[in-house]
Amino acid sequence: MPSDTYASALDALHQVFGFESFRGLQSQVIDGILAGRDALAVMPTGSGKSLCYQVPALVRPGTVLVISPLIALMQNQVMALQQLGVRAAALNSMLSFQESARVEDAMREGRLDLVYVAPERALGDWFRRLLTQTKIALVAVDEAHCVSQWGHDFRPEYLQLATLREQTGDAPFLALTATADAATRKDIVERLALKEALQFVAGFDRPNIRYAVEPKTTPKLQVLNAVRRHGGASGIVYCTTRNKTEQVAAQLQAENVTALPYHAGLDPQLRSRTLDRFLKEDGIVVVATIAFGMGIDKPDVRFVVHADAPKSLEAYYQETGRAGRDGLPSEAVMLYGLQDIVQSRALIEQGDQPDAQKRVEKQKLEQLVGFCETTRCRRQALLAYFGEAMPEPCGNCDSCLEPVESWDGTEAAQKLLSAVVRTGQRFGAAHVIDVLVGADTEAIGKWGHEQLPTFGVGKDIDRQTWRGVVRQLVAGGLLRVETEQYGALKLTEAARPVLKGETSVALRRDPTKPVRKARGTQERAPIGSDSEKLFEALRALRRELAKTQDVPPYVIFHDATLIEMAKSRPRDRLAFAQLPGVGATKVARYAEPFLAVIAEHVG
Ligand code: ADP
Ligand code: ZN
Repeated sequence: MPSDTYASALDALHQVFGFESFRGLQSQVIDGILAGRDALAVMPTGSGKSLCYQVPALVRPGTVLVISPLIALMQNQVMALQQLGVRAAALNSMLSFQESARVEDAMREGRLDLVYVAPERALGDWFRRLLTQTKIALVAVDEAHCVSQWGHDFRPEYLQLATLREQTGDAPFLALTATADAATRKDIVERLALKEALQFVAGFDRPNIRYAVEPKTTPKLQVLNAVRRHGGASGIVYCTTRNKTEQVAAQLQAENVTALPYHAGLDPQLRSRTLDRFLKEDGIVVVATIAFGMGIDKPDVRFVVHADAPKSLEAYYQETGRAGRDGLPSEAVMLYGLQDIVQSRALIEQGDQPDAQKRVEKQKLEQLVGFCETTRCRRQALLAYFGEAMPEPCGNCDSCLEPVESWDGTEAAQKLLSAVVRTGQRFGAAHVIDVLVGADTEAIGKWGHEQLPTFGVGKDIDRQTWRGVVRQLVAGGLLRVETEQYGALKLTEAARPVLKGETSVALRRDPTKPVRKARGTQERAPIGSDSEKLFEALRALRRELAKTQDVPPYVIFHDATLIEMAKSRPRDRLAFAQLPGVGATKVARYAEPFLAVIAEHVG
């Protein structure tokens, strides 16, 4: 780009946003826009998509029109921009007639840098007229994958967005999304009628998220531990059923965690209050069905726990992706057990979807199971699923931090399979394991199973490990669990060669205790104990300021800024302005109270 434009873009980045440099693809996308080109940017959550149109809004003459389907998200961005001193507004159904009229006047008079609008509204005649009276600098279409009928978020109005060009003249179009495979990208370009569009596709990796999958052994405790590891931070716990969200929330409350259930069955008013608290208070844990999360733009979610396995790896990626948008260390923990596989399979089999779709769903489930059972780096496995090769293990997942051993489970598998056969393929895992370890139970006596040649042949292995063997054989398709027959285990065709000794079975050794905080990596605020105190004081001030303005704390300052503030302890406005995420407006508004807290602390 011409150097003066580049200079103004950098200037806006420093002065307004308080950031040092552009990240990843930002400068290339912004380059393209400032040169007047249409563009498509596929960048993962947290990579800073919004800056790609917010910076041009400050550099290009005219107003940037942002099409966004999610009202909550719009409101959030507008709030954050206003805090930065940027002239932004949203036009949506929450506004009164007068408020709308004020925004419209400001648009016509060129007094707005950005205006956010929902697609339905953008397409209406009234708004189109307004567009012809306004100088539009750029049309940014957020969540652009919604134009694709193949995706799960299809929105018919998106198909009409290309017609806005009739009113926006030669303003470039920028389509943005966090997920789009090649087919979806093609759809986006065609349906939005992007002209000779520049295409930017960033990788899927979210390096600040630590992935871990734990076998469900003591689920209640495992959830609690995950929450406790992040003491006082915000997080989400996903469960598959409404009932379970209430249960888990109650269990956490009993341990003094501020946990709130969230699901589609709750009163809408209660739901929106819960969402509001999650955004505006520190340290709320929402225990939710997957109905929660779409369109939540909270940057400081420090952990996502799956108390039950997700539906597919896509779902897993999306749900875990809600952690750590601000780039700070965050954690995704999934608990996974035999029941998860069995229930998910049953759900697919009993569904009334066409067979072709069942096959696809089953395949997706198998890929998820493969991910759970892998001994490889989780990130490598996850990225491979999205077709991305990662040359080295990541060093930030459970497999990398505590390498998983695999062991030759051929003999164990044979013992287990033959115990299943000898007991008539009529019993569930618990009883079969009792037989293997030679337990003295009522059922064993009743059925005379102590007479079987397999009785007690598995004494050398503990029950926990046996449960792992059962799970892995079910995961690997050697055993099937009959849900209609009280969970009886049955052999499949695939078990035959193992029983006959023709193939061997490699199993992963489940960790005996779940992976704890590993190798001195801290989950939050990597700062010393003295700075920790200052950090808490700064956080309290932020909370107070947020409350008086009725905005979420993170629109005042992100955690990253507070952490840096606690570490570097600026003494004057000049030093304060050097902090990451502190632009001119934030200095003017907030330097004084924060400097006062620092001065008091330093003494
Ligand atoms: P996305 O929309 O892609 O999920 P956001 O636009 O919300 O991402 O940005 C994610 C976070 O990264 C925000 O907290 C934002 O302030 C921060 N960020 C964006 N660009 C930069 C940059 N160049 N330098 C530092 N932080 C940035
Ligand atoms: Zn790894």
